[in-house]
Amino acid sequence: MEQHEVDLSIIGAGPSGLYAAYYAGFRGLTTALVDSLPEPGGQVAALYPEKAIFDVAGFPNVRGQDLIENLVEQAAPYDPIYLLNHRAEDLEPQDDGTFAITTHRGAQVRTKAVLITGGIGTFTPRPLPDGEEFEGRGLVYFVRELEVMRDHDVLIVGGGDSAVDWALNLEGIARSITLIHRRDRFRAHEDSVEKLYASSVRVLTFHEVARIEGADGVERVTVFNNQNDEREVLDVTRVVAALGFNADLGPLKSWDIEIDKRYIPVDTRMATSLPGVFAAGDITDYPGKVRLISVGFGEAATAVNNAAVYIDPAAKVFPGHSSG
Ligand SMILES: Cc1cc2nc3c(=O)[nH]c(=O)nc-3n(C[C@H](O)[C@H](O)[C@H](O)COP(=O)(O)OP(=O)(O)OC[C@H]3O[C@@H](n4cnc5c(N)ncnc54)[C@H](O)[C@@H]3O)c2cc1C
Repeated sequence: MEQHEVDLSIIGAGPSGLYAAYYAGFRGLTTALVDSLPEPGGQVAALYPEKAIFDVAGFPNVRGQDLIENLVEQAAPYDPIYLLNHRAEDLEPQDDGTFAITTHRGAQVRTKAVLITGGIGTFTPRPLPDGEEFEGRGLVYFVRELEVMRDHDVLIVGGGDSAVDWALNLEGIARSITLIHRRDRFRAHEDSVEKLYASSVRVLTFHEVARIEGADGVERVTVFNNQNDEREVLDVTRVVAALGFNADLGPLKSWDIEIDKRYIPVDTRMATSLPGVFAAGDITDYPGKVRLISVGFGEAATAVNNAAVYIDPAAKVFPGHSSG
């Protein structure tokens, strides 16, 4: 059985967890990063690696995957142990204030403190009704690489950030882009929606998919207007179903930590209800919480510095400034 012993175990290798690994290293702590996904990067790597991100401090414009690679590089000098493809399953507090974490593949990590950066939990995309037959044959739920859409006529279904971002990012790559949404209001950033309407993307609101057809893959899609039932056949060869995803905190719900709906309430030290267990990033909650990468970075730094004091009560919360 794979066994490790570290100062701090970080559950979730999204942007918050990766930055926490850097920060913990900077504070002289050894770390293990556990993630159920096969790659680090959380939502950014899994859902929008090619998207341009404009609101991370110090980066006027950074591609999702580049940000993740930079975070991995930043943590690398401190040699965090990566347990990828491992879902953290059990958390057992020990009598001496330390913890034992067991993953679903049986790996065990003995750790002095825990930082949960589990984001929205483990996530799976919401399926397009009756689309199953075309999955992997023209129907996708994520656009991991924009290039796979080159010269295709693409239909994007959805009204959230992913749908709008992919529509904008595929301009100039796809031959044509149609975006349908079953409402007339988008759940996306206002600025992106404005750009969408100013772009070459054909936007059909109050529209839904009636039927996908094709012999070897997607060849055409019938869509209908849900206000008047008018139908239209679109000659498209790729369908991106960006209908959101079902997120599940899974095993974390059975841990002895207060969870409010899908979130972990924390105090100003990012401490959870269980001493020695801290949380940061999308998974935390407190009045005024904002779920953004930049906020997760700040919370990760706060959490690690306070975890350092839990591990060694003689340590100071303030770490001093980094220097070369
Ligand atoms: C389409 C889209 C566009 C976005 N654009 C922006 C943007 O432009 N700017 C911005 O600031 N934010 C953006 N966001 C939000 C941003 O992605 C999140 O705020 C950020 O990813 C949160 O990081 P995190 O590390 O807290 O969590 P996540 O990125 O969710 O990572 C959490 C990780 O924890 C893992 N995990 C969960 N439970 C377990 C377990 N039990 N065991 C092991 N691993 C586990 C998951 O697999 C996941 O990898 C966007 C989000 C989406 C969906």
